[in-house]
Amino acid sequence: MKPDRPDHSAPLDAAERQAVLPVICYPVDSLPRPDLQALRAARVGWTLTDRVLVPPRDARCFVVPAGHFFRITSIDGPQVGDLNLWSHDLSERFYSGKTRALHGTHLSSGDRLWSNFPTLRPLATITDDTLDWYGFDSFGGGVHDVIGTRCDPYTHNLLSDGGQYHHCCHSNLTRALARFRGLPLHEAESHVHDVLNVFMCTGFARDTGQYFMKASPVRPGDYLEFLADTDLLGGLSACPGGDCGGEHSSDSAACYPLLVEVFRPGTVPEGWAPSRANRYDRGHGLTD
Ligand SMILES: [Zn+2]
Repeated sequence: MKPDRPDHSAPLDAAERQAVLPVICYPVDSLPRPDLQALRAARVGWTLTDRVLVPPRDARCFVVPAGHFFRITSIDGPQVGDLNLWSHDLSERFYSGKTRALHGTHLSSGDRLWSNFPTLRPLATITDDTLDWYGFDSFGGGVHDVIGTRCDPYTHNLLSDGGQYHHCCHSNLTRALARFRGLPLHEAESHVHDVLNVFMCTGFARDTGQYFMKASPVRPGDYLEFLADTDLLGGLSACPGGDCGGEHSSDSAACYPLLVEVFRPGTVPEGWAPSRANRYDRGHGLTD
């Protein structure tokens, strides 16, 4: 955090330097925008092919074939979910940092969930978001962030004087992946990564820059919907923080299940094709 009283005095031209206008790091004008109308049209006549209930303070894995939709729905009460995505190969996974750099701190319809290097391609496209009305509130908070990481037992241990808690999203996702893929626990843990915080309402405090959360505006019936741009394995944890309006990393919050549904569209969405790996040649200048 920035000090209240800096050790170094400001230079004479400090105001001038601070007044320099920012530029967007990654303008996305050159990225093709998904045709949401065409994608949504493919929902007509779709067929439910899988339904996975994620219990409170636990996680489940689910499979989504390329070109299928999946929906995460709040069902019994306000609940936040931590989402991991992998392609069929667990080494290719959701890259929240680059997704944030491209689409901003909080995602909504039309944004894509990008994978790590060297593929850096869309794993999924958000096709519908019933909380898109929320925008940014007066605190700078928004929903569906890619600025947090996931609640985890290591940070809890650091901040709680040695506490041991086993139902943080990190552990929930680790157990779910271990069971689903038949992996040793610690091997599964190495594949768990930074999440999309589904339904979570977060931001950065304007005075200190600290990451904050507040009670999610999600209500039963709200959903976030995606189209899989390649074959996917998903993991979703129903966060122990519930609506994340109080605390996480404990059993004190009211927690509810989340529903994941997978749909096969009646027709291939017009203009859609599976995403392909990034075309950088991976030379990295070694032979220059
Ligand atoms: Zn969590």
